[in-house]
Amino acid sequence: MLNAEPTQAQEAFRLLPQPRYLSRLRGAYKLCSPRLEIGGAAVALPKIVAEEWKKEFGSAVELVSGADGGFYFFIGRRTPPDPSVGAHPELYTLTINEQGISAFANTAAGLLYAWQTLKQLMRNNAAEIPSVQITDWPDLRWRVYHLDLKGTRRTLANLHAILPRLAEFKVNAVLAEYEDYVQLDRHPLLAVPHALKKSEVKEWIAAAKAYNVTVVPLVQTLGHLQYVLRHPEYSRLQEKPGDPAEACASHPDTWLLIRDFLDEMMELHEGLPFFHVGLDETFHIGSCPKCRTALKNQPKLALYIGWLNRCCDYVKQRGFAPLVWGDIVSNHQGDPLIDQLNRDAVYVDWGYVHTGPLSSSLIALNRGVSREWLKRPNGEINQLPAVGPCKKYYEDLTTSEQSRIKPLVDNPEFPKKFKTDIPAVLMVQAGLKFGLVSGIRVSFHGAIAPRFIQGQLNTLQAAVVCKKHHSDWVIGSSWSRGHSLAGMNAHPELDWYGIATLAAAGWSNMTSEDLRDFDERFGFQFFGLPDGHIGDLLFLFERTSPRLDHSSVNYLPHILEELERLAPLVKRNALAFKLLQAVCRVMNLRNKAQFALLEMEYFYAMWARVPPDFKARMKMDVESTAAAIASVKKELGALYSESIQPEDADELSNTQLDFFRDQMLLMAKQQFPEA
Ligand SMILES: [Zn+2]
Repeated sequence: MLNAEPTQAQEAFRLLPQPRYLSRLRGAYKLCSPRLEIGGAAVALPKIVAEEWKKEFGSAVELVSGADGGFYFFIGRRTPPDPSVGAHPELYTLTINEQGISAFANTAAGLLYAWQTLKQLMRNNAAEIPSVQITDWPDLRWRVYHLDLKGTRRTLANLHAILPRLAEFKVNAVLAEYEDYVQLDRHPLLAVPHALKKSEVKEWIAAAKAYNVTVVPLVQTLGHLQYVLRHPEYSRLQEKPGDPAEACASHPDTWLLIRDFLDEMMELHEGLPFFHVGLDETFHIGSCPKCRTALKNQPKLALYIGWLNRCCDYVKQRGFAPLVWGDIVSNHQGDPLIDQLNRDAVYVDWGYVHTGPLSSSLIALNRGVSREWLKRPNGEINQLPAVGPCKKYYEDLTTSEQSRIKPLVDNPEFPKKFKTDIPAVLMVQAGLKFGLVSGIRVSFHGAIAPRFIQGQLNTLQAAVVCKKHHSDWVIGSSWSRGHSLAGMNAHPELDWYGIATLAAAGWSNMTSEDLRDFDERFGFQFFGLPDGHIGDLLFLFERTSPRLDHSSVNYLPHILEELERLAPLVKRNALAFKLLQAVCRVMNLRNKAQFALLEMEYFYAMWARVPPDFKARMKMDVESTAAAIASVKKELGALYSESIQPEDADELSNTQLDFFRDQMLLMAKQQFPEA
């Protein structure tokens, strides 16, 4: 019956994510004036199919509501469902043969995914759909895109526009960090201009549900309260006076304030299953006199755990399962107090550096490095260990500390390297539910674009570790700023390569061997491109240093030329493609400004000896670069504001271009005083 190996058939259709089981059958279904019957239980699907069918294939489809309930659809002759398939809530089967197309699922979510797979198949050939048998469900239960709205705030239209695209890749949740981008009744002064109205959020949550995207709200409950504590009305609650990052856990008004936020946001998200209470990077906790008195002689961790448990219990009482950022807990693994942590919560821990199973740093254990790792590795300049907050060298740990780590680092390369899944292992050993957070818009602040490839490898590794240690949660972080007072990171519509990786790695088996194949799938499904060349260009983009030094290699002219060649072939998501072209031009200009600055620096001490003609050329470069930046900023601001708020679009383009331009002009003013 099979006329091709399943893997070959898979490659031919370039589905993303790759289905778990796909068999190619003989023949194809010829589609003419299609009539699609949808089971009555799938209430949201007819509207989605009608819209997407028209948009994708330009023709209409006749939709008929099925006489009986249930989650199914079919065109032509219906093939009966296979009774032996499992009960997974996202499972679906899709059968295409010469007589018709039939899909079955256990839930609306599964049936939506059957449609998404059919749509991707039809993009190969909408008139004659090859016969296949697909049975599919995900490896990881929750595949989450982090929607950070504290900067690069997406317009309401864009918030709606991302939903079908997330659904197409079978991403089933967003972690929504609203901060000051929602109008709260009890604290109205916090909202930024254009903040979302509650009614708009409610409509959006309902729209997300139709696309099987579960909104997980996030409210910071102690640290990262810059957006609140920077206001004079709230500054008295600062744990460290003058620093708006954290509130005091011992001040009675802090809980009253946090409870207000939790109450209002829980009401807004009523009926949803999860609530994230933040609690990362609480570096100052327990440092003010009030806290020190409250703590007596207990460690600061006791105060943190008490607060964490209070927040988790509070949301649990209202029917939400709590999520917490996992960094503080990870840093204190092995401490007996960890036993007191709330057991209902899922501790979601991040790591953006790991791109494979082994690492050269013990930072994950808050332990620094091994002296062995600081010896010059043989030809592995990129593999040098990160020398982070080195509390102790591995060699200086006590025997009992070493023996605790030893079983976790058991691999042939130890002590040169240790396993990157140690944080997950420790969570499991402590009996805590956990998830992993990778970097999609990796938090290298001020970057013009995400580090596409590092983020991809990092996400892949996170998914592998989640599967190995039976976690339900993989989250792709997409920080819009380091915190509410920091400069903005890259535009969020550049996240899709990372989102697609999260989707592919979280749904089914994907390893670093599959990257070339992934690029083909992504290029075709996301942009409608004939091949995976876009992946090469993203790779070269990353190989071009964002900060100039004398040995940096610049691939931007080549990338721009190739993007120009591909542009007429783009069929879908043209805005994301245009953004990619724009940020390449921006990076080119930023490099020019940096170069002009470098050149003036190079001759700085010998300025009087530089020939006048040479100086005139340098001055001309400065002027033309400044003019080019002024003109591109306008264009960039307009392009950015197609999907994010105009004031954020301006701020983002300023963030990306002003620094080097201003430094260049400052230096030029000093070196060319006659100007
Ligand atoms: Zn305090």
